[in-house]
Amino acid sequence: MRDFHYKKYKAKSLYDYEPWRITEDKFKVENNHHNESIFALGNGYMGLRGTLEEDYSGPKETTTPGFYINGIYGSERIIYGEEAPNQPEETQTIINLADWTSINLYVDGEKLDILEGKIVDYKRVLNMKKGYLKRTFFWISPQGRKMKINITRLISLKYQHNAVIKFTIKPLNFSEKAKIISKIDGNVTNKHHFRKRKVMETLDKGFSGYGAYLMQYAESTDLSVNLAVKHRINDNYKDDYYLEGSSGPDTVVYEYKFDLEKGKEFSLEKYVSIHTSLDIARERLINRSFENLNQAYNLGYEKLKKEQKVFLDDYWNDVDVVVDGDPGLQQALRFNAFHLLQSTGRDGFSNVPAKGLTGEFYEGHYFWDTETYIVPFYLYNRPELAKKLLVYRYNILDKARINAKRVKLDGALYPWRTINGYEASGFFMGSTVQYHIDADIAYAIYQYVTATDDYQFLYKAGAEILVETARMWYSLGSYIDIRDGAFCFNEVCGPDEYKPGVNNNCYNNYMAKFNLEYAVNIVKEMQEEVPDLYTELKKKVDLKESELFNWEKASANIYLPYNEKLGINPQDDSFIYKNPINLDNIPDEELPLVDNWHPLTIWRYQVIKQADVILLMLLLGNEFSLEQKRANYDYYEPKTTHDSSLSPAVYSIIAAEIGYYDDAYNYFNQIARLDLDNYNENTYQGVHTAGMGSAWMTMVYGFAGMRNYKGVLHFNPYLPEKWDRYKFTIKFKGREILIEIDEDGAHYTLLEGEDLSIKHLNEDLLISQEKNITVPLKD
Ligand code: BGC
Repeated sequence: MRDFHYKKYKAKSLYDYEPWRITEDKFKVENNHHNESIFALGNGYMGLRGTLEEDYSGPKETTTPGFYINGIYGSERIIYGEEAPNQPEETQTIINLADWTSINLYVDGEKLDILEGKIVDYKRVLNMKKGYLKRTFFWISPQGRKMKINITRLISLKYQHNAVIKFTIKPLNFSEKAKIISKIDGNVTNKHHFRKRKVMETLDKGFSGYGAYLMQYAESTDLSVNLAVKHRINDNYKDDYYLEGSSGPDTVVYEYKFDLEKGKEFSLEKYVSIHTSLDIARERLINRSFENLNQAYNLGYEKLKKEQKVFLDDYWNDVDVVVDGDPGLQQALRFNAFHLLQSTGRDGFSNVPAKGLTGEFYEGHYFWDTETYIVPFYLYNRPELAKKLLVYRYNILDKARINAKRVKLDGALYPWRTINGYEASGFFMGSTVQYHIDADIAYAIYQYVTATDDYQFLYKAGAEILVETARMWYSLGSYIDIRDGAFCFNEVCGPDEYKPGVNNNCYNNYMAKFNLEYAVNIVKEMQEEVPDLYTELKKKVDLKESELFNWEKASANIYLPYNEKLGINPQDDSFIYKNPINLDNIPDEELPLVDNWHPLTIWRYQVIKQADVILLMLLLGNEFSLEQKRANYDYYEPKTTHDSSLSPAVYSIIAAEIGYYDDAYNYFNQIARLDLDNYNENTYQGVHTAGMGSAWMTMVYGFAGMRNYKGVLHFNPYLPEKWDRYKFTIKFKGREILIEIDEDGAHYTLLEGEDLSIKHLNEDLLISQEKNITVPLKD
């Protein structure tokens, strides 16, 4: 492997390698932007960047404040340089919503500012076990007042509409008049979208005995959001403050005045409740918010914190992967799992934005990233969440049908990037051309069903998706005489976005075949097993017998690229004939190519953005021999820039399978700490959720060699040299299995459920609760 890949890994991390925490021990303007993403909090419903509570006086380009709700977006007309027919007309962009975190402290006119005066013993800690972010420091003001500041924020994972901040001040060498201004500030914009115009208009605002509220509305999408806040002052000062409420055009403001007494701690708890018109009718939003706000207020800060820990104990119990011998990787795996939880919509109507809820880049859109890189993580840890993500696809099926019509196809074509179900991309060569998203969804359904036996979902929702995606494929392809009558797919793009508009992308064709075959099998199974449900489905989608015949015939005849001379699967019809290029000769500053080279330049070279054929080697791994995987790896690896974070993990997994252990380890390092160590130098834009899911896949599919082939679990584990041990649990068909790998071998413990037959190094192995099993690792 080229040196190129490791360079950045050697950079020193900004954070010590603590198992459960990420700590910033000095506030630096140059890290602020990056840390706004790292220290983002969320709960799948909402997400908040790690911007400070108090006003930030650093350079504007070092901050992008952001508060988002999953699925709350604005639209505007897409402006095309050159028009073409049937292109999407409207954007969908996640909105940066009102800032409810704003708290400013003034002591006799001096305003707390992290860049003024002196900051001593600064620490900001993301506590991943307890689920909060805590900042502590001593501030010595320019006039020499010394105080201890402690600010904790928490977004409740259990109560998805609630968040709380606790702001504490202890004056150490003075007594003085002070005030705190705490706001909901609706005067905000997105930094990079909507041409910097304000999207949300204020509909209503005010105060009541229950608290203050601000309701705003996005005209373009008719979506409303209501935020309500209420404060609690601690006992030390609770009878001794003066409070004034006021409002501006887009703000509601609380001003607390009090006399700080030396040595006596003041604290303010700010409770927040957030709802949208997707949750409840607009007329009832304010009432609902207040009800919910008061529940949170009555529970109180300590209880919310306690419940957060309980929620997370449960989560970690399911998802934690332990690595002994590499604290940096251990920390990263937890950081990734933590952010995945924070990013995942759990209601079947929202999903996982590519940047989570940690930034406005990629506009809050959902991609194939979910099914291919994130569903696996949930499927084997929290299958009920994997299901919700698939239910989202079912819920947007009608829109996928419309999308297919847009490009004169049958059935349903899922949008490449979307929030509301319609295609949101204005660049078809980077989006609609990736028809493979249909097969990726079909594949995720297959994985889900074979790992859970959830036939209810399959027959009532999954099957309909399979039929409609099969229809799409059948209408997209053609029998081509000159290719010996093979069924071909033209003008497509595989996962490698550096080769759009090609014929017979290998990944595309194999996955289409998979999709068509799976659809036929499931329909036939339903005819036999659940005739009533079959009849319902048939009626609903007007399914004809002849369609099954057509799909079967087409899938049996799909052109599957193989080149005898090279002994590899060509990525598409033209790839192997393109201009060769040596990636080592591309200057670092020209990477990623997507940001530096004209598409035409990229397209004419044998250069790959991300795993394509190699991803196929993973997903349909049982259809390819080890030799074939190795030949493909040897051919494609030197041609891949990994300009997408969806790439390194897949190379790591296949490298592990074919015994290239150094590559496997190095690619794993690259992906595991991608955001923490800012490999792609763009973490400030938001975290890479697919990369995070893929890091988990690398542990489980790569090092432990787990595959689910036809509903049977296979393991092929080995222990990387640098580690003493690693372990994780897997949920599978109602079982919970603990897998531990150490020098003595692989240990399988069935924690829950009935005996299960698995494959270890391709040999049958029965695991049962009766006894734990230890077996040797692969050489
Ligand atoms: C990748 C896509 C991915 C998207 C969102 C792009 O850079 O090439 O495969 O879906 O990012 O993560």
